[in-house]
Amino acid sequence: MAAVVIMFFFGLAGGIVGRMKGSSFFVWFLISGLIPFLGLLAAVCYRWDSRELRRQCPSCGRVVKLHDTLCTRCGTDLDFPDVAIASEESARQRLAASRPAG
Ligand SMILES: [Zn+2]
Repeated sequence: MAAVVIMFFFGLAGGIVGRMKGSSFFVWFLISGLIPFLGLLAAVCYRWDSRELRRQCPSCGRVVKLHDTLCTRCGTDLDFPDVAIASEESARQRLAASRPAG
């Protein structure tokens, strides 16, 4: 019974870390719950999805991650782009900064 409780809390912690990084809460909840310690460690080391630079697919216009080599919508091979789109997080920060204070 104690093991289930431990797994639950590891899952919860991993899920929260994953969610913070722009990934799926549920996926990291499962990983961290099934492999306590290691799963949570993986969630902590996982790249910040919301901080990745993005780019636009030249064929269909879908915004994908900069490191993607294939468009997830139309399957076009993507060369390394000349222009990158700011990450979701920095776009959010810019939006917050441009909003009038008060
Ligand atoms: Zn595409």
